[in-house]
Amino acid sequence: MTDLTGRIALVTGASRGIGRAVAIALAQAGADVAVNYRERATEAIEVVETIHALGRRAIAVPADVSRGDAVSEMFRTAEHALGLIDILVNNAGIAIFHDIDALTEEDFDHTIAVNLKSAFLCIRAAIPHMRERGWGRIVNISSGAARGAGGIGPHYNASKAGMEGLARGYAARLVKHGITVNSVAPSLIATDMVQAGLAASLSRIPAGRFGTSEEVAQVVLMLVGNGYMTGQTVALSGGMSFN
Ligand code: NAP
Repeated sequence: MTDLTGRIALVTGASRGIGRAVAIALAQAGADVAVNYRERATEAIEVVETIHALGRRAIAVPADVSRGDAVSEMFRTAEHALGLIDILVNNAGIAIFHDIDALTEEDFDHTIAVNLKSAFLCIRAAIPHMRERGWGRIVNISSGAARGAGGIGPHYNASKAGMEGLARGYAARLVKHGITVNSVAPSLIATDMVQAGLAASLSRIPAGRFGTSEEVAQVVLMLVGNGYMTGQTVALSGGMSFN
């Protein structure tokens, strides 16, 4: 298992679902963790308490990561409390379920801002210190929808495809500084997001079950533990797709 003792991680959208599991897995590997959330403070504090019980430091940091000022403040708060960020996991995301004819400009802009622009804002904030220290790990939580049909809508597909392009663009430029940037593309994982809109999709999964958030976290940990793999997307889909 990768030893992350002494490393500081920030996970966006870590109050629930995949982000929660990633934050706890990073702490189990030895990292201290900043747990970002948007509004569910009680859930975020429960994640912090779980990490404290593992003997690691953690804080809950509220921020709407689609906004540049909020991201700057989140990094200031996290770094003041825990130290400079070594590991960034861009996980926060939304899924607005709409038929294509009902999709509005506002839905499109909001999805791109929360799912894609947030990753740019967080990476921009994280890389100066990673570069100075010659070590950093960035993982974007993309989706099978980046390359496949997906069940949410074209706005969501576009936001996740954008995340993977963002990862490759940064990966090419940062690897010489010891920083890797990769994506994990899950589908379909049993979380509130899936239970809210895609629960009927179980029959599409050859494995016959939804994935777990812990299985996604395991792949994130693999990427964090590897210094040579960069610019890649690792998919886990229970056999739904192989790209
Ligand atoms: P989830 O259960 O709905 O949790 C979403 C998390 O994101 C929550 O912690 C939420 O905070 C946070 N969040 C939402 N908007 C935010 C914002 N503007 N600023 C900061 N935090 C925000 O979702 P999930 O299923 O775990 O999904 C996590 C990521 O995996 C998303 O990027 C999603 O697109 C991706 N993904 C999920 C699946 C799947 O099958 N579940 C598949 C592919 C990709 P609050 O709790 O405070 O609201």
